[in-house]
Amino acid sequence: MTSEKLIELLDKAAEILLKYPLCDYCLGRQFSSLCHGAGNDEKGRAIKLTLTIRCFLRHQETGEIDEILRAIAATGFKPAVKTLQALGGEPPEARGCHICGGVLDKSRFREIAERVIEELGEYEFKNFLVGAKVPADVREREDALRAEFGIDTGEDIKADITREIGRIVQRRFKIPVEYQNPEIVVLVNVFSGEYEIQVNPLFIKGFYKKLEKNIPQTPWYCRYCWGRGCEKCNYTGKEYPDSVSELIGEPALKLFEALSYKFHGAGREDVDATVVGTGRPFILELKYPRRRFVDLSLLEKEVNEHAAGKIEISNLSYSSRKELRILKNLSPIASKTYEAIVEFDGEVSENALKEVEEKFRDIVVEQRTPRRVLRRRADKIRQKKLYYVRAEKLGDKTVRFVIKTQGGLYVKELINGDEGRTKPSIAEFLGRTPIKIDLTVIEVETPNVEAQGKKTSNSVE
Ligand SMILES: [Zn+2]
Ligand SMILES: [Zn+2]
Repeated sequence: MTSEKLIELLDKAAEILLKYPLCDYCLGRQFSSLCHGAGNDEKGRAIKLTLTIRCFLRHQETGEIDEILRAIAATGFKPAVKTLQALGGEPPEARGCHICGGVLDKSRFREIAERVIEELGEYEFKNFLVGAKVPADVREREDALRAEFGIDTGEDIKADITREIGRIVQRRFKIPVEYQNPEIVVLVNVFSGEYEIQVNPLFIKGFYKKLEKNIPQTPWYCRYCWGRGCEKCNYTGKEYPDSVSELIGEPALKLFEALSYKFHGAGREDVDATVVGTGRPFILELKYPRRRFVDLSLLEKEVNEHAAGKIEISNLSYSSRKELRILKNLSPIASKTYEAIVEFDGEVSENALKEVEEKFRDIVVEQRTPRRVLRRRADKIRQKKLYYVRAEKLGDKTVRFVIKTQGGLYVKELINGDEGRTKPSIAEFLGRTPIKIDLTVIEVETPNVEAQGKKTSNSVE
């Protein structure tokens, strides 16, 4: 039974070769799934060798030279050529492989791999992946051949290319192939001799504190010139000279020799709010980095020295695209605690503040979208929980409030009432109008925040 199947296989291979010359790779690849741990070229050679022996045995029986032996010799298979000659036959002219045109070839693989290796030498990486580009006409010829001979044991031609090139690169750098998240992807086209090196981004996570107001998280373009530079912005094109993104990204760009960077914050604070406590989580994405093995304490030092007094970063570690996805989808913030220093238009009594503490405890606040964000957000009514307000008189008209709310509650409006759009409000309750509100987030609790624990501090919306 099994030997019959084997004969069937050899007959089929012979049938194919009689019609189409195939190189060792392209023949072996049609029967790839029938044996493991060998390259398709080895499989192709094994089949060609077995057929050559069969032709030799037939010649002993019949004295005739089999056409199959000529067909195999025509593929350039040396043992067939020699055997044919030994039997007194004339070696036929070599024909190129019907599928690949002879491109799948050890020396060609080596030549491209050497060029790839030379360029990869400029990069730091600890794993890689090789991909292959295959012209459509090559695929079409292979598909047609498989349909014609009913082949269902074949493998994709890409596998031959990636396996061969990958093996050479792997041996040279002594690093593993990584299928899920390779740091470097080499895309080769052995048919054109071209290749492309894709360097995947590097991710660094950490926390930032913002020590000074008027630093936006990402650069703001000047509202007059939109970045072109004008008199109003002193030809910087920016509304503010610094941004958290630039203060962290620029030094990182140099250290990692990257082409560009993208800053991702876990939410953002108002430009005029500071970030204290443990800071706000962020992930910095560095694109096309040449260096990957940089000591992160170096980056921390560089940023903190360079941005002293403006921002401060801490707890840096290497991250991943997966963690970035988590950061971006962070569950809604559970609660925020604010400190608000408020100056009113008139005196506020200790007693009134006591009443505020009593009245504004575990209540639901109803807010129409604040007028100041109406341009960005839909006008709707939100109901948010207010956990507590603590009030401490700092002067006749000045009060320090500590306010803990459910995430998403607009605190400025809770204080000033937003012309009746937030109810209840502290201003309405006190019968006073706030002249100045200075807001800082002192604590944020988020459910399911990755790694660093669940309490982080950040700032105001
Ligand atoms: Zn071929
Ligand atoms: Zn401008």
